[in-house]
Amino acid sequence: MIDLKNLTIEKAHKSLKSGEFTCRELVEAYLKVIKEKNGELNAYLEVYKNVLEQADVAQKKFKDGNATILTGIPFAIKDNILFEGQIASAGSKILENYTATYDATVIKKLKNAGAVIIGRTNMDEFAMGSSTQTSTYGVTKNPHDITRVPGGSSGGSAVAVAADMALVALGTETCGSVREPSAFCGLVGLKPTYGAVSREGIIAMGNSLDQVSPFGKKVEDVEIIFNALSKHDPLDSTSIPDELRDFKIKKQNSKRIGVPWHLFKEGVEDEVLENFKQSTEKLKDSGYEILDIELPYSKYSLAVYYIIMPAEVSTNLSRFDGIRYGFSIKGENLLEVYKKSRAQGFGKEARRRILLGTYVLSHGYYDAYYNKAVKVREKIRKEIMQTFEKVEFILTPTAPILPFKLGEKLDNPVAMYLCDIFSAPANLSGVPSIALPSGMSKDGLPFSLQFMASHFQENTLFDIGKKFETIR
Ligand code: GLN
Repeated sequence: MIDLKNLTIEKAHKSLKSGEFTCRELVEAYLKVIKEKNGELNAYLEVYKNVLEQADVAQKKFKDGNATILTGIPFAIKDNILFEGQIASAGSKILENYTATYDATVIKKLKNAGAVIIGRTNMDEFAMGSSTQTSTYGVTKNPHDITRVPGGSSGGSAVAVAADMALVALGTETCGSVREPSAFCGLVGLKPTYGAVSREGIIAMGNSLDQVSPFGKKVEDVEIIFNALSKHDPLDSTSIPDELRDFKIKKQNSKRIGVPWHLFKEGVEDEVLENFKQSTEKLKDSGYEILDIELPYSKYSLAVYYIIMPAEVSTNLSRFDGIRYGFSIKGENLLEVYKKSRAQGFGKEARRRILLGTYVLSHGYYDAYYNKAVKVREKIRKEIMQTFEKVEFILTPTAPILPFKLGEKLDNPVAMYLCDIFSAPANLSGVPSIALPSGMSKDGLPFSLQFMASHFQENTLFDIGKKFETIR
């Protein structure tokens, strides 16, 4: 029996290399758990038919001496990442039959490394949501308590890892969609620097915010995946050239952590705040300096996000028109085809954001909303950059609340949007951020905190993350 609970990439790699188990045996161990648990949890929308063949390709790499650290490692991928020949529906009815015609760059990289991609996972429709309840394909349940949500939008990927249905997974972040489900499922999740990982072949949500992001049980796993995926890609015009990426650690400040206590006044659950305070004490005991910092503009992050994101969403989703991508409802004329297909193909949350985005971009409101939000975003970015001249990290809880009940917040979009309150600053400013488990509540639900660091300082996040794993 393979001990999936405690398995890491490094451990799996050693065992595959020594022949303790084969790539097929490893994948079969996960397939067995999927068979037992996926019916209830609904993490995977589909397990790919060629999984065992992928395992054989990986095995051959070991035999030929071409194996790398990711060879044979079982991944789950979010349903908005293109894998040639496979359906990618982004959790939406409008893409229910869309088959990818090419591989996303991140998939090419995983394939070249010989990773095994088990299947595609459930997500909020077009990555819009914080609970994986807006998918056309049903809700995903939290393995720590199946009456609760797993977080979102990459909830399926999070649950796949948390319930041992994959060793690691990929999700995407536009605003917290990997960190928040990491928090709710007790995992490590990294939102990389904007431009670090290619988005070629990702179904876009908000182009100025989106970033492919890994999940793992341990910091070291997320680090290995990030290092394998982070590279300039000429196919993605927002990808940063390698020579402009600076991974050097600014040693002089490396023990200073800034906490914007003033942001926690409202909406943070008592238990979450208590756990957070305890974590800061533990960090202090380990020699870190905790400084009170002010981020006056960052309190507008959510307001800014909920203008910029829908603007980009309304533009991106305009391509789904009932003519391309499969799903189509007949009509008397072209306009009617558009109208009917879009009305029936998109769910409620997607429609809400298309309307909001169209409104803030419309003539007459553009300056009042969109332009203003862009200006405030720049102030937030500057404020965060200036803060990193004084401290090495910014620390907050990952989410203000513990995983909530299934069905909750669905009829209150604003309450749902508030889950993103600590996520937004990193996506708006482009800095990296890592979510780390920080203990369990009395009801057995995971707590989590997140560190942010300056652009391309992922290595410092991995260092402090590994340190925190030993003291939490
Ligand atoms: N909760 C965020 C939203 O609903 C999640 C976006 C994301 O990161 N994909 O917009």
